Amino acid sequence: MDVKKQILTLKAYTPGKSTDEVKREYNLDKIVKLASNENPHGCSPTIVEAISTKIPSFAVYPDGAAMELREQVANYLHVKEEQLLFSSGLDEMIQILSRALLSEETNTVMAAETFSQYKHHAVIENAEIREVPLKDGVHDLDEMANQIDEATKIVWICNPNNPTGTYVNKEELESFLQKVPKHVLVVVDEAYYEYATAQDYPQTLQILDDYENLFVLRTFSKAFGLAAFRIGYGIGAPSLIQQLDISRLPFNTSALAQTAAIAALNDLQFVEESVILNTHERDRYYDFFEKQQIFYYPSEGNFIFIKIPGMSSQDVFQYLIEKGWIVRAFPNGIRITIGKEEDNDELMRLLKELSPVKL
Ligand SMILES: *Cc1c(COP(=O)(O)O)cnc(C)c1O
Repeated sequence: MDVKKQILTLKAYTPGKSTDEVKREYNLDKIVKLASNENPHGCSPTIVEAISTKIPSFAVYPDGAAMELREQVANYLHVKEEQLLFSSGLDEMIQILSRALLSEETNTVMAAETFSQYKHHAVIENAEIREVPLKDGVHDLDEMANQIDEATKIVWICNPNNPTGTYVNKEELESFLQKVPKHVLVVVDEAYYEYATAQDYPQTLQILDDYENLFVLRTFSKAFGLAAFRIGYGIGAPSLIQQLDISRLPFNTSALAQTAAIAALNDLQFVEESVILNTHERDRYYDFFEKQQIFYYPSEGNFIFIKIPGMSSQDVFQYLIEKGWIVRAFPNGIRITIGKEEDNDELMRLLKELSPVKL
């Protein structure tokens, strides 16, 4: 028995060491995990009540079309119900898109470095991958447009980009969309939409009607704090949604996830407060990095990508994990999820020891 040969070139996703493993390995009492961009403030307190009172029966399949959630999200975003497709997190949406559009005869264009799942699924579908290096940490949309040809099926724009936190602004995105031919689907992954505060961050939903080949991704995993439930969605033209819906599994979002997401939409104040705290802590990190001469990219998400001068990212990762701090290492820097105030204070104290200034 052999799986597709390209699958053997990939690795199964490793979320990194578990908290318990790190505790045991380094003999620590307390671990702080700032590695997966989860909401450090948890989720709305209304979720627990909603999921413990609202499920009619565990023996019954969920509503595959997620009708109640669909209605609520449509109202929340001011889009039509037919413009929505729900998935078991955006990870599954990336799989649905790849499965529906990519094959050996096609290619897909993406930034490097960006969210790893775009490439992962493109490899499985045997599509050609055209990676365009970030320019000063930002998507190089001019070069990405140059890479498009008749065989291009999907262009991925991660906005803000994971892991750098950098963003493509409204003007840049629109002039890119004007250049892209209609046979190419432009997927704008807005997993961190709620956290973005820049004035010129694009309001992509407002231009959806102008581009039938535009698909926007949002999730309940990040600012809404529901990562454990696995629920996200895409917004696009009804004709596109109908086609993608065919390759969606019949019951891909669970009843509990749908109920939790509905409850989350009814407590937007929780998200607003999380965003205010995130913005405040982000600014504190900026001040700290500037004072300590640590390189960082300004971020529109709940995470910051940094480089410590003269140190490899693996060494920084190792230094932190031995003290109980789990962050995410990339080849040319580390990504830190912005945590709670007290955790950020402590992490700054630790990073100060590595900075060239140490004041
Ligand atoms: C976290 C993340 C996702 C996946 O989110 P889920 O909805 O939890 O699957 C997708 N894209 C980006 C850029 C992310 O950071």
